[in-house]
Amino acid sequence: MTSAAPFTEARERLCETLHEMAAAKLSPGSTGNASVRVDGGMLISPTGAACASIKPADLVFIDQRGHTETGALRPSSEWHMHSAIYQARPEAGAIVHCHSRYATTLACLGKTIPAYHYMIAVAGGDSIELADYATFGTDQLASAVIKALNKRKACLMANHGQIAFGSSPEQALALAIQVEDLAAGYCQCLTLGEPRLLSTDEMNEVLAKFSNYGLQPQQPMQRR
Ligand SMILES: [Zn+2]
Repeated sequence: MTSAAPFTEARERLCETLHEMAAAKLSPGSTGNASVRVDGGMLISPTGAACASIKPADLVFIDQRGHTETGALRPSSEWHMHSAIYQARPEAGAIVHCHSRYATTLACLGKTIPAYHYMIAVAGGDSIELADYATFGTDQLASAVIKALNKRKACLMANHGQIAFGSSPEQALALAIQVEDLAAGYCQCLTLGEPRLLSTDEMNEVLAKFSNYGLQPQQPMQRR
């Protein structure tokens, strides 16, 4: 692997997603990061950069053994978590992590998002679970996130934020935006009372509909 910025299209698409995440106000300051699976490893945003200012050449290639290229910027401190998800979930093509306001609010209160709305199924289950707290950038946090994903494509992270994956950067971001919207809706419900939660049977029906015909055909991620 050379540092001649390979994976041109993947870099451009991931960069576009990072800019959209910033425009959607999901990643205040220099928080938030995103990655995409590529041949031999992943591309991930660099540490300490505001998502809106990241350029395609700034993205860091990390191979499957965790090595970066000479001369590359330092990768996001959360790269262990991204790497662990790619290993545990072969269907993950891209990952978005952010400290979006309402998802983080619930995560700081130690709450999951229960089935207060049928769209919870968009993450792949009848709730959006909460990963136990661990220090950012650690293998313990990566393990906690893998556990909380629990057959789903998104989870909250205690005292931290949220993480979502999809088959492409666009789909991962779309899910993170939906998780944030669901978190905001749940926060609003809690200010007025306790929402009625959908039953297991009701959610199973929704999950079956989503898996049968609720999804659009997915665009294969093009590499290089
Ligand atoms: Zn974070």
